[in-house]
Amino acid sequence: MTDNADIAALIRTIPDFPKPGIQFRDITTLLLDAKGLAATVERLAALHPGPFDMVAGIEARGFIFGAAVAQALGTGLVLIRKDGKLPGRTVAVDYALEYGEDRIEMHEDALVPGCRVLLIDDLIATGGTALAAIRLLRKAGAEVGGAAFVIDLPDLGGAAKIAADGVPVAALVP
Ligand code: IMP
Repeated sequence: MTDNADIAALIRTIPDFPKPGIQFRDITTLLLDAKGLAATVERLAALHPGPFDMVAGIEARGFIFGAAVAQALGTGLVLIRKDGKLPGRTVAVDYALEYGEDRIEMHEDALVPGCRVLLIDDLIATGGTALAAIRLLRKAGAEVGGAAFVIDLPDLGGAAKIAADGVPVAALVP
């Protein structure tokens, strides 16, 4: 049995990446472990009550967990990507970064209006990325029925912002 403490133990912290002062939580070591990866997917898929019509994954690590959770739940996967990567017509949302702005997009015809979506990413920190993804999914007509993360950094307040926006939020490890 692999519990959340075992999952946490498979994630390493790399100091000063990508710049000095940042403690980067690296999930590549979790991906290398067959039991840890399977338990992570199973537990992510069970964090929120379904049913969901679709899983949405945020580029790039959200694609890995999102695809696996979609398979576990028997749904499709919609990709939320950085600006300029998707070939078809898109809807976009701009959001503020610590320095500057960024844009995320999804295909405008990806979702049936009113469908219930589970949002997946590897990690929530300030919540800026996930909040932008929620705005984007709503712009495309979806109901965001839950947001699930492998890691929550609660001191940065992102999960609280998601909950305040009306989306149930949960993570496996702090
Ligand atoms: P936020 O927008 O501040 O909540 O940052 C979350 C986004 O940045 C997610 O898409 C994460 O993949 C990425 N991120 C931020 N910090 C880390 C980290 O320490 N490890 C892995 N990804 C991170």
